[in-house]
Amino acid sequence: MDTLLPAIAHAAFDRLKAVLDNLGAAPPQVLLLEGGSEAQRMDTARYWAMRINCPTAGTTGTPCLACPSCQQIAAGEHLDLAAYDGRISNREDEENPGPVHAFNMERVRELKVRLRDAPHGQGRRVVLLMGLSLTRDEASNALLKALEEPSKTTVFVLLAPQREQLLPTLVSRSFCLTLPWPDCHADDPEMQPWEDALAQFLVQGQGFLDKIAGKGAIDASGATRLLLCCQKAMSRILSGRHNPARPLDAALVLLHGKGRAAACQWFAEAQEALNYGVTPARVLETLAARLFALRRMAG
Ligand SMILES: [Zn+2]
Repeated sequence: MDTLLPAIAHAAFDRLKAVLDNLGAAPPQVLLLEGGSEAQRMDTARYWAMRINCPTAGTTGTPCLACPSCQQIAAGEHLDLAAYDGRISNREDEENPGPVHAFNMERVRELKVRLRDAPHGQGRRVVLLMGLSLTRDEASNALLKALEEPSKTTVFVLLAPQREQLLPTLVSRSFCLTLPWPDCHADDPEMQPWEDALAQFLVQGQGFLDKIAGKGAIDASGATRLLLCCQKAMSRILSGRHNPARPLDAALVLLHGKGRAAACQWFAEAQEALNYGVTPARVLETLAARLFALRRMAG
């Protein structure tokens, strides 16, 4: 049955599922899911939608993960499940429509109209929102109003790597749950010299760029592993388990709230650039320069 939500099939998510099972008895209007990976947040949100809409969950307290309702939710095809992503443009949405739609003013208007109707099934409508920006634009203002109006028929789920990437007014309306961070203590000894060189660069502004500039010095898979080292260091910091003896932890721990959120965003962007085939040295150079500037501002 776990194959329905593969990203959270691991035992590390059992506690989180138990919390959601309990919450399902009286669902909060807005649930915020942070931590974990993007796929894990999505599967957790779908688990939540199943908890609320699976016909047997009302009596057993846990979704069956097998009925048509659960299966439609897992496939993103349930009529009472809607998902919006601020990172998708209207054009991308029109050209290649999928279960996740663009999020903009037009969509908030449509959503508010839809919210007046009863859900199709016996449960509640579940609206997933991701990729929201920190800037207070027209769409986010309209969204805030929609979240403010209490609804017996709809619940919202906000998905973000960290709550600091959302407007504080959204966070304050939310019941926040943190997904288990990736296994942040599993080391990659081969990458240690690279990790230490990056850390040294963040402190002294030298060394790293020469190291990565050499022809064939680091390939895309090496760069991906180094990015993972960075993400793990940030995970340790965010979960209060960083190791001051590790140079990268010591360099990154000085960043505060917004700086940490920006760094997480840049790690993700760097990975995306690698996926698109940008030269690994170029990607790491840009990342290191951005982190160096940020760290200098942090003092
Ligand atoms: Zn079910």
